[in-house]
Amino acid sequence: MNLFTETNLSPDILKAIGELGYESPTEIQKQTIPFILSDIRDLIALAQTGTGKTAAFSLPILDMIDETSRKIQLLVLCPTRELCLQIAKDIKNYSKYMKDIKTTAVYGGSSIMDQMRSLKDKPQIIVGTPGRVIDLINRKALDFSAIHWLVLDEADEMLSMGFKDELETILSETPETKQTFLFSATMSKEVERISKNYLTKPHRISVGSINEVKKNIKHEYYVAGYRQKKEALKRLIDSNPNQYSIIFCRTRMETQEVADFLMQNGYAADALHGDLSQAQRDTVMKKFRLKNIDILVATDVAARGLDVNSLTHVIHYSLPDDPEVFVHRSGRTGRAGKDGISISLIKPEESRKLKQIKSVTKIEINEAKIPTGEDIIKAQVGGVFESLFEIHEDFFEFDDSLIPDLSAFTKEELAHKLLQFQLKDLALYYKDRHDLAEQKMSSRDDDRGGSRRDRERGGRDRDRGERSERGERRERGGKPRRKNEDMVRFFFNLGKKDQLKKLDVLDIINKATSNGKTKKRAEIGDIEILEKFSFFEIEKSFKGDLLSNISTMKFRGKEMRAEEAN
Ligand code: AMP
Repeated sequence: MNLFTETNLSPDILKAIGELGYESPTEIQKQTIPFILSDIRDLIALAQTGTGKTAAFSLPILDMIDETSRKIQLLVLCPTRELCLQIAKDIKNYSKYMKDIKTTAVYGGSSIMDQMRSLKDKPQIIVGTPGRVIDLINRKALDFSAIHWLVLDEADEMLSMGFKDELETILSETPETKQTFLFSATMSKEVERISKNYLTKPHRISVGSINEVKKNIKHEYYVAGYRQKKEALKRLIDSNPNQYSIIFCRTRMETQEVADFLMQNGYAADALHGDLSQAQRDTVMKKFRLKNIDILVATDVAARGLDVNSLTHVIHYSLPDDPEVFVHRSGRTGRAGKDGISISLIKPEESRKLKQIKSVTKIEINEAKIPTGEDIIKAQVGGVFESLFEIHEDFFEFDDSLIPDLSAFTKEELAHKLLQFQLKDLALYYKDRHDLAEQKMSSRDDDRGGSRRDRERGGRDRDRGERSERGERRERGGKPRRKNEDMVRFFFNLGKKDQLKKLDVLDIINKATSNGKTKKRAEIGDIEILEKFSFFEIEKSFKGDLLSNISTMKFRGKEMRAEEAN
């Protein structure tokens, strides 16, 4: 079966997927479509995100669903709201020409009353998160008596998020005659246990197995001690210009810390993790999809709901424990026929963990040296030309008479000047920085104990590292300041490049802190405007007003963000 037209799917479905541009079934679809259409057994499918899972189960089910019945026939359970909305949207697209078919998504973090109202439309298909489905069962808003198919999507993720009890309840509340399809990226012990208890003699299929998936992804790893990790990350980002990437971290706190570090250093980055509210997560994902930010720092769970196909890099800021998670993360890049790069940043003591990942996954991961300032500038020059040659249209009009006489320069001289102009900040930053590859040895020795001489050398290097960190802080924060207990210092995301002037900052502070009732004004201390961002000081008691108001204001159309500086 190489084309959808060779399947027995109905013309309404073929028309809808044809409009979506689907011509050939993906590997998993080739296996599941004929199986679901003709077999009554349960199914376990090992498949990762991005393999075409949703169509794999929903197309054959849509083909068999009873359009004349107004009872729920298909229930799809998935771990997150984002995935829930995505699956419901896909199914609605596939059933576009099946006029009587209705699909409703039910998930937490949104009004249950609204969802109960939409259930009054009597959908035949429900896509839901386990917690919300249980809430709706308890309110007697769902009738599962006619369920024919139950799909557990990303079963491993639902279990690791703690939905075990909910899943078991739902599995036992639905009719025994139903057919259950379990999709999972990994076959954890918990997934095995659930399948043993609730699936009957399931047929098993597996696609995208570890060994065959990743031929178009280049894997490399870099070693950096704990203290140098963020600086090493900065270098890896700077040496890969024009990247559109996800940086994976292990914990919510680490995710936020890394994202804050990048934002404070002027990168278009943001964090995605479970401590953010749903609205915040939606905003971040939207910004990333629209490429308003090009670096997303995320936990594994939060990144699951994100369907982006054009990532250039995946960076493992922390290695996962499970080798399959490593493969899954890396597989977010190198999609849609493009090449991808997967970069692991490991601490010296993690080399055993990396070895285990290499041996289980059989992926070749080679060590590379953390780029020096010189490497970075070289890469950036390449990046400037790459972006330049990608511009094929004019974004604005201007008169050639505005261009001064350039006849005194050769084209190389002009290119030099433009590059100096473009890369000045970066070049100045790296000018006196030590090579991290050199420091790495000291931290390695340090971590392993090493000889006394080595330890002394490590100590000296550490001092140097700390001094340069202090230097960097001074550079970012400007001259050392007088300590004033009543004032608080803020980092502000706008700078000279946004045409920000001191008067503007005064105006912004006054607007953000003006207290209508008391007419009291915040005392304002130092204001320091740097190229990409700024710092200012205000009276401590106005901190709350400033933080809550500034994020709702705009300067020359740009969003403002302030946070307390170190
Ligand atoms: P999924 O694994 O269901 O999240 O699907 C991954 C992406 O592949 C989605 O953007 C789908 O719209 C797309 N897709 C699924 N099946 C096909 C197909 N047969 N041909 C082209 N694109 C597909």
